[in-house]
Amino acid sequence: MQTALVTGANRGIGLELVKELLKREFHVIAACRKPESADALNELSGGQAADKPSPAEAGETRPEVIALDVGDAESVKALATDLRGRTIDVLLNNAGIMQRELGIADIDYDYWLQTLAINTLAPVRLAGALRPNLLGANCPRVVTVSSQMGSITRASAGSMSYRSSKAAVNMAMRSLADEWREDGIVVCTVHPGWVRTDMGGSDADLAPTRSAADLVGLIDGLTMANTGSFLNHDGSVIPW
Ligand code: NAP
Repeated sequence: MQTALVTGANRGIGLELVKELLKREFHVIAACRKPESADALNELSGGQAADKPSPAEAGETRPEVIALDVGDAESVKALATDLRGRTIDVLLNNAGIMQRELGIADIDYDYWLQTLAINTLAPVRLAGALRPNLLGANCPRVVTVSSQMGSITRASAGSMSYRSSKAAVNMAMRSLADEWREDGIVVCTVHPGWVRTDMGGSDADLAPTRSAADLVGLIDGLTMANTGSFLNHDGSVIPW
């Protein structure tokens, strides 16, 4: 049985990724900031204690819910300690934040720094912390949910803080793909589509269930041939 760890698993795309991975018989470690108030996740897990990580068992239908603030280095360290000795096949860096700016006059520079911390630095830090767990897998994959708003080819005005955080995580993961190529760890970034979540808003194209089903299908089929790529949820390549 393969194990996947999903960050930001309590709502939005992350929650649907958890459900979809369970359907495909993954053991799912669902990480979120506040397990005690992650109602949808706790409903799925049947109220499983958040502070007791448990190894995979066959035929599971419930996620293992654990606490993780991806922006907090101590929280990442504690998670890595809790998971020591366990294999992780798929690390899904999904947690992310966004503030829309119409233009340069609207920029909140402190929030931009926070956006870089969560969207760019945190996926790298977590991948590094869980490297020993990934090395134990047959086909280890680090998949970071980026955005086509981070594509420089497709750049347009507005949302500079978010766009730059996603462009930067694309570069970081592209670089990590080369660093870990000889270890056989697949590293790539994905665009989930424009999805109806708190972040995407109600006018977005895709239901989170659709996006998550596409992404998990894509992740299931990733090989070293895909390492270092930036993929749309439908499997097509997005230009940097
Ligand atoms: P969302 O509904 O706003 O959910 C964001 C998730 O990230 C929440 O679970 C949130 O947890 C978590 N998160 C934020 N900061 C965190 C932290 N410091 N530690 C741990 N978790 C944290 O957003 P979404 O639409 O599902 O987005 C998921 C990913 O897809 C993001 O990376 C986003 O940039 C990307 N994306 C989304 C769209 C779209 O159209 N929706 C398009 C392109 C890319 P809390 O509940 O604790 O805040």
